[in-house]
Amino acid sequence: MKETRSTCPYCGVGCGVIIESDGAQITGVRGDPEHPANFGRLCTKGSTLHLTASAAVTMQTRLLRPMQRATRGSAPEPISWDGALDLAVEKFAQVIRDHGPDAVGFYVSGQLLTEDYYVFNKLAKGLIGTNNIDTNSRLCMSSAVAGYKKTLGADAPPACYDDLKHAQCLFIVGSNTAWAHPILFRRIEDAKAANPTMKIIVADPRRTDTAEIADLFLPIQPGTDVMLFNGMLHLMLWEGWTDARYIAEHTNGFDALKATVRDCTPDRVAQVCGISKENLLEATRLFATSPATLSLYCQGLNQSSSGTLKNAALINLHLATAQIGKPGAGPFSLTGQPNAMGGREVGGLANLLSAHRDLANPQHRAEVAALWGVADVPEKPGKTAVEMFQAAADGEIRALWIACTNPAQSMPDQATVRRALERCEFVVVQEAFSTTATCAFADLLLPATTWGEKDGTVTNSERRISRVRPAVPAPGDARNDWAIGVDFAQRLEERLGRAQALFPYDTPESVWNEHRTSTQGRDLDITGMSYAMLEAAPQQWPLRQGETTGRARLYEDGIFPTPDGRARFADTPYKPVAEAREARYPFSLNTGRLRDQWHGMSRTGTLGRLFGHAAEPTLQMHPQDMARRQITEGDLVHVTSRRGSIVVPVAGSTEVGLSQAFIAMHWGGEYLSGSSSTGTPLAGVNALTTSSYCPDSKQPELKHAAVKILKAELPWSLLAAAWLPQEAALDVTAALRDLMRSFPFASCVPFGSGAALGGNAQERTGVLFRAAAYEAPPDALLAQIESLLALSGADTLRYADVRRGQRRAVRLVRSGADAYLEGFLLGGDTRAEAWIKALLQDRLPAQSYGRQLLRPGAAAPGNVASKGKIICSCFGVTEAAIAGQLASSGGSEEARLAALQGSLKCGTNCGSCVPELKRMVRASAPPAVAVPS
Ligand code: SF4
Repeated sequence: MKETRSTCPYCGVGCGVIIESDGAQITGVRGDPEHPANFGRLCTKGSTLHLTASAAVTMQTRLLRPMQRATRGSAPEPISWDGALDLAVEKFAQVIRDHGPDAVGFYVSGQLLTEDYYVFNKLAKGLIGTNNIDTNSRLCMSSAVAGYKKTLGADAPPACYDDLKHAQCLFIVGSNTAWAHPILFRRIEDAKAANPTMKIIVADPRRTDTAEIADLFLPIQPGTDVMLFNGMLHLMLWEGWTDARYIAEHTNGFDALKATVRDCTPDRVAQVCGISKENLLEATRLFATSPATLSLYCQGLNQSSSGTLKNAALINLHLATAQIGKPGAGPFSLTGQPNAMGGREVGGLANLLSAHRDLANPQHRAEVAALWGVADVPEKPGKTAVEMFQAAADGEIRALWIACTNPAQSMPDQATVRRALERCEFVVVQEAFSTTATCAFADLLLPATTWGEKDGTVTNSERRISRVRPAVPAPGDARNDWAIGVDFAQRLEERLGRAQALFPYDTPESVWNEHRTSTQGRDLDITGMSYAMLEAAPQQWPLRQGETTGRARLYEDGIFPTPDGRARFADTPYKPVAEAREARYPFSLNTGRLRDQWHGMSRTGTLGRLFGHAAEPTLQMHPQDMARRQITEGDLVHVTSRRGSIVVPVAGSTEVGLSQAFIAMHWGGEYLSGSSSTGTPLAGVNALTTSSYCPDSKQPELKHAAVKILKAELPWSLLAAAWLPQEAALDVTAALRDLMRSFPFASCVPFGSGAALGGNAQERTGVLFRAAAYEAPPDALLAQIESLLALSGADTLRYADVRRGQRRAVRLVRSGADAYLEGFLLGGDTRAEAWIKALLQDRLPAQSYGRQLLRPGAAAPGNVASKGKIICSCFGVTEAAIAGQLASSGGSEEARLAALQGSLKCGTNCGSCVPELKRMVRASAPPAVAVPS
């Protein structure tokens, strides 16, 4: 047994983990008690990391050998590393020779390590001579980058996690921190518990779990953040709550901004944002008059066609009130991905250069060229994410290298992205997982290492650099991302006849040391840091030569990294969302995260139990909107934007406002079928989203698309589910996904039994396939589904009425004195779904139900009821169990929560479910106390 300290690969909180391994197998994970980001805590995603690295998962999902596709659509064949890289060199060199360096593009990822990023950035800009390198961080953080630079002069979050302890007012805007940054939210809960007078304001179009902790919730209309912030500044000026001395001594540009916000009167703000004037005034008062106000924000500001303005307008408020550069205050952008910060540090975006340098600045280009030992760095700006795929779709970019990201799932406007991937002459996909949607478009697949195998560094939201360490050797022929880049670059140098050896690296540390040199004298100077220092503890930047610790907080002296040392107020006129709602598309569709899933689910999607909290794709819609359209819970609806259409079941929710709707960003084409506006099969939620982007940051508006929602008339329905052997579950799921296109609607989702912490429940995985059609599909298709779910053997009971389109198959397996359902298929009439699904998923004895299981529309037996969704993933505690416990517990809300946690343990490990538990406690009436007569 070995223990290795490393970092969680999911969100930007950057929690430290201790990986337990036995030989080549990762066997466990726990939070690192010494890591300053999490002090030993992990959320549901982090605490299940080891399960996603099991032998069964690796066997079914990992890309273990380089593979080549002879023709598009054919099965890939193994190829040696030498053969693969020589082929890539030949193809890239040919495109560069025939069409110039700008005919190639690199699309990389905020989940790469800093060292990986550095190599690919230098490869594109230093060796090939193109700035066509961008990253999925463009979809995540580029508005935050642009907002910081526009106002404070550098892309540097000025605050730190410790500031939560010092804040007296917390302004959380455009961030569902409770789900997207769970361990940070635990620290918010701790801060509030330690200081109950701290006020928390949450502004968001959705009433998320984060809003549960708010003293004041502002349910603003989608995209109206700038109007809110400008209106707050208007009131601050009116009330005399700005800090004239700070503005005069440390800033520029306030007069122009004052003119802009003059029109943002409380009446106008209330009307545009959809909030009351009283709440606007209260939020302004709390923000401006608190001794220390800290803003936390994320994709709600960033993923917007005015993302830079939103970021800048919020930062304006901090500058106007001097809520910056002191403990507990500042505009603190939360990073979505684990290393979006590291990518920015090395300049891994189409408009940046190493160490926060700007491509547009000739002096910066010269500095980087000198550092790399090349004649120059090209001046022409590179294509950003949306532009890059548009250029590939237009035939301008002919060779694409995609590393550690899944654009065929995550990019908006999938019709264009898929056209790009199909048209591109040569697509390289460098990936750890062979299962991502993008792999299907690759001419060449290069196997990369992933969490538990990689070696290097990442930077979290608070500028803290942590080591990522390998616990086990790379499986199969997988190689580290930086090493693949170096090998390719060295071969390409030779092919292009370049004499310089620009890539002399043999370890990640050697790459990092060059990056460190590039930071000298820059705002993120880390010349005082070393790998050896990071071995001892993660460190924040800047950490200059001669210093022993990094800087926790920036701008305490009121001096900013601008030419005159002053911060700049940005003029921030309000601009509505790019795609106006109108009669044909009357709803605003928002997208965002689920609590227990990560991005395209290539990793979290391998664990059935992480689907316990949100089991299937749904569209959330306000109950009043549903009633108005005669839509009931679970009905299928067509959700259609100008770009595509999907069919999805509806879930009523008062979390979303009227005329708004929400679909989780994770539901790609692997989970949910869809089509483009021309009928081409497409991928999930991003068939709908728009690539309209912010003109400054080029970040697309994933938080709003105008859609229409119409009830889908698909009378024939199907539900099939089965437990599957661990070593085959994911392969079966993949095979079922290939059948999704045979139906106008289909979804395919794993489910699992919770291997509860400290419990004996065995980890099991199953799959649930749901579909609907205008009429019963051919028997052969249903037989194929049955066969995949092991429902075609002699032990399966069956019933069929072809004329009525009815079909049933159930498989019971004897265990002890009873028999249990192992799988079923209901075709035609699926009204018995709830209780038959409960028999299967809750492992209830099923022997006594005999023929009832086969009868269409059979009513639920009285003693079979669904336990509902899993609220606490750690201990497998269901909604029904919590409701049962709450029905008998009395006292204050705090006492009832404590009783719940004491009896069921829910929320006592990672705490991710605590906001939801609190909501359930609040919503349930305590039992009536009998009054003695
Ligand atoms: Fe990982 Fe969760 Fe920590 Fe984010 S909050 S780094 S997902 S453990």
